[in-house]
Amino acid sequence: MIPRRTMLAGMLASLAFLPISAHADAPLRVVATTGMIADAARQIGGDLVEVKGLMGPGVDPHAYRQTRTDIVAMTRADLVLWHGLYLEAQMEGFFHDLARKRNVVAVAEALPRDKLRGHDSYADKFDPHVWMNPVLWIEVVRAVQAALTETRPEAALKFEANAEVYISQIRAVSRYAADRLQRVPESARVLLTAHDAFGYFGAEYGFEVLGIQGISTESEAGLNRIGMLVDLLVERRITAVFVESSVSDRSIRAVIEGAAAKGHALKVGGELFSDAMGPDGTYEGTYVGMIDHNVTVIAGALGANVPPRGMIGKLSAGY
Ligand SMILES: [Zn+2]
Repeated sequence: MIPRRTMLAGMLASLAFLPISAHADAPLRVVATTGMIADAARQIGGDLVEVKGLMGPGVDPHAYRQTRTDIVAMTRADLVLWHGLYLEAQMEGFFHDLARKRNVVAVAEALPRDKLRGHDSYADKFDPHVWMNPVLWIEVVRAVQAALTETRPEAALKFEANAEVYISQIRAVSRYAADRLQRVPESARVLLTAHDAFGYFGAEYGFEVLGIQGISTESEAGLNRIGMLVDLLVERRITAVFVESSVSDRSIRAVIEGAAAKGHALKVGGELFSDAMGPDGTYEGTYVGMIDHNVTVIAGALGANVPPRGMIGKLSAGY
């Protein structure tokens, strides 16, 4: 179906016998892998883009493979945005092939190497979870803006204006994060999650971060690691651990049971959005809402005073 606005533009253009696809007002067709990149493209592109996100809520990017529908969408797109840094590990080869034929940009690869954290399993790779530090993510947002601008240079000013608004919202959520997280008692600043997605978050806001699985989700945690983490949590008197929307909670349950066997009560502090955002069409389904949710849940569960519905009262589930 052709959107009404485009149809109108097409009708006007037809006076000059231009096909709709060649008309400069037709929205750019953008395909993005993760929800966080799709959100940036939507916010910056506004009504000049139609964005299809491949990985919806609850989808694990480390394990995701392109479907037939995804491939069709990508071969028809004006611009394909992926993360890079080995996040979409199962799609690397596909994107390298596609880049020979289509306009394809790995937006997180724009980050300078000295701002990246190392990978626990591969000496030559980096931790890809850069969206967990909003300040760092702004540089990736700029890379999305640059890719859109390169694809449609005549819209540069519009993209710039939209990016400014979006980035100011990201700066605001980062300030909120710093403010609320520093209210967590220093001894409780330990964040245990199912996999190691929060390294950049911990480095920015002063938390020790422990993932049961490593940086990617491909390997299961061994009993030794679970036992070691249980001992550490008991010793540090940590009372809450966190599940993730895109990773099985089995290993978290094993840690809680292990702690209980030692007489230490651990609770699930809440569900965090690590590699995928919340439901489509909700505040938590936006990048700013996702970070607001994570910060509010983490700070609240670990002992800080937090507003029940987050930074601007928009979180759907009160803490
Ligand atoms: Zn991850």
